[in-house]
Amino acid sequence: MAGHEELISILVKKVVEEIARVGVTPHPANNGNGLVDSVDQAVEAAVEAQKRLLALSLQRREEIIAAIRKAALANNEELSALAIRETRLGRYEDKIRENILCATKTPGTEDIQPEAKTGDGGLMLLEYAPVGVIGALTPITNPTGTIINNAISMVAAGNAVVFNPHPSARETSTRMLQVLHQAIVDAGGPAGLIGGVREPSLDTARQIIEHPKVNMLVATGGRPVVNVVLRSGKKAIGAGAGNPPVLVDETANIRKAAQCIVDGASINNNIFCTCEKEVIVVDEVAESLIKFMQETGKAYRLNAEQAAKVTNLVVTPDRKINPVYIGKDVQVILADIGLQIDERYRLAVFEAAQDHPLVWLEQMMPIMPVVRVKDVQEGIRFAVEVEQGNRHTAIMHSTHVEHMTAFARAVQTTIFVKNGPSYAGIGLGGEGHTAFTIAGPTGEGLTSARTFTRQRRCTLVESFRII
Ligand code: NAD
Repeated sequence: MAGHEELISILVKKVVEEIARVGVTPHPANNGNGLVDSVDQAVEAAVEAQKRLLALSLQRREEIIAAIRKAALANNEELSALAIRETRLGRYEDKIRENILCATKTPGTEDIQPEAKTGDGGLMLLEYAPVGVIGALTPITNPTGTIINNAISMVAAGNAVVFNPHPSARETSTRMLQVLHQAIVDAGGPAGLIGGVREPSLDTARQIIEHPKVNMLVATGGRPVVNVVLRSGKKAIGAGAGNPPVLVDETANIRKAAQCIVDGASINNNIFCTCEKEVIVVDEVAESLIKFMQETGKAYRLNAEQAAKVTNLVVTPDRKINPVYIGKDVQVILADIGLQIDERYRLAVFEAAQDHPLVWLEQMMPIMPVVRVKDVQEGIRFAVEVEQGNRHTAIMHSTHVEHMTAFARAVQTTIFVKNGPSYAGIGLGGEGHTAFTIAGPTGEGLTSARTFTRQRRCTLVESFRII
């Protein structure tokens, strides 16, 4: 009998050890919800969790990813409403679309399939190995989508993530982290695999950037934060600002172009970094384009006087965007110049000169300048200038292959959409996966699990050349 008891106690001990190893027990630092008080605690929990993740099978890792997707979809309404209430940016129905897109079109572990090469020298295997702990800084504009997208990509690649969300999206982002953290733990994943501090700030961002146990930094935001992570001395991925031009030439299907521009520029009140930010149109089709935009029933045309008033409202005297109006509904913005418009409108358009500030600034609001150019060559030259070397996104409506090729070559953006709304370039109604971290400055493009890996070569000499 004593032998049995001993055996049972050994088995119980082993089960307890196994549970601790795979991480069902929360790390003591994080109370089981992914949120802690200090950057040190978050990083220590992440280091531990990443080790535990690597001890799990790839099938279990994929189950964890499936759980993240499911939780993001199940809590979509709550989180979208919270994002709108807290940040006052964007539109509820578009946040819902953003989260569905990120939950369903962010690649999982299939993105890190190894590559093999065989020959007389034997077998060479290229594996995409995890980097370890990633520090991810996320923007106010997409607090939910970026966290869903980053969490799936980074965990699929075998990493743990310490997030530092924008402080003005703290409530939404930390709630999102709690929801996804719980899903990970419920799926048998390690506690602390994703997380962050309860009160993110610029100071906690700095601590994450400088922390010796954070192996990689990912900044999704404006140019300044991208520069900060690039100066860190660590491997850094920078997804920065854009000012995407949409160019329409005389060969385009003008009615379709008008519809696409209105849809693309008004999604989420223009806060996506990929949204059309200025329209450049060849003179001979300019009038039809604006007329067809109006005929969509969603674009309101401003006359010169109204356009001047709106410009004075949304652009400060020192030529900066007035943040009060970023991401607001067009009705809210126009009401402040005394113009009441129907709820069906999603965008205001107006004719602008080439030096108009809204042509050059990333407005992130549904106020769209339309600039005429003499011909497509002038249009290409001007669009390249207004893109300002961000290498982010450009859009063209044309049926002329050479025109499209010439613009794509000249502008050299990370995303180039032809004959569709800008969001087709992030996989919404267009082919390909989605990413809400679009790394133009550092060149990784639409990020995915593979972006967050280190390459490792395994070589087996003089064997396994079977062909
Ligand atoms: P932001 O640059 O103000 O903030 C982004 C993140 O960086 C936040 O978490 C913020 O707290 C942090 N941060 C900012 N300055 C910092 C500093 N000096 N040190 C450390 N951390 C710092 O950007 P935002 O207003 O939140 O987002 C909008 C901007 O992000 C737009 O310019 C938009 O184009 C861009 N954006 C780019 C992508 C992309 O994939 N390329 C995606 C979304 C948004």
